[in-house]
Amino acid sequence: MPQNYIIFLTDSIENRNFVPPMEFSSRLLENLVNEIATLPGIGKRTALRLALHLLRQPENRALQLSEAIRRFRTEIKRCHICHNISDTETCSICANPARDHATICVVEDIRDVMAIEHTGQYRGVYHVLGGLISPMDGIGPGDLFIDSLVKRLSSGDVSEVIFALSPTVEGDTTSYYIYKQAGHLPLQFTSIARGIGFGETLEYADEQTLARSIQNRVPFDQSIKF
Ligand code: ZN
Repeated sequence: MPQNYIIFLTDSIENRNFVPPMEFSSRLLENLVNEIATLPGIGKRTALRLALHLLRQPENRALQLSEAIRRFRTEIKRCHICHNISDTETCSICANPARDHATICVVEDIRDVMAIEHTGQYRGVYHVLGGLISPMDGIGPGDLFIDSLVKRLSSGDVSEVIFALSPTVEGDTTSYYIYKQAGHLPLQFTSIARGIGFGETLEYADEQTLARSIQNRVPFDQSIKF
């Protein structure tokens, strides 16, 4: 019995029209297609198109891509202070003496750091949690960088914590949990302004809206219903 090289396209969008089974003449091609198709939002047919594109490119272009992926995965670090993605042990924001190290903006992930940095309006530093508390998804406080945040806040060098988490149940649960852990410390707890049209995640907010919501931040205990 020959090896079965037939793959049925299962992507919902691609299935709107009938697509015949995909038959590979090369196991190397099949392998690459399967690997590319594990990426989010990429179905088998798109994966095949990308694989054939790589084949048409000069060999060194494709090898540059694979080298970039290899180096990204093996060399990238998380800043030991704020957990932002970095090439060095301490990220460029934490290492910058011109930043206001007494103000910490708490965000879900590095895309939020990128979005806020893009506004050019924030001069403080960050703390990247690496997610939000979500019992439904089995994510508890221990899965996030919350302990290290509480430690930073307890150091005595911080005067303000800004919660810049998404205005969802998960975002509120997370900020409230942190507030419960650190609320006794002599710090100002604030939350970015809400209800002025920024989307579910900060990365989708336009620059001006995001900059305004940081400038117009409100005391945390007024921003959330306990
Ligand atoms: Zn850092």
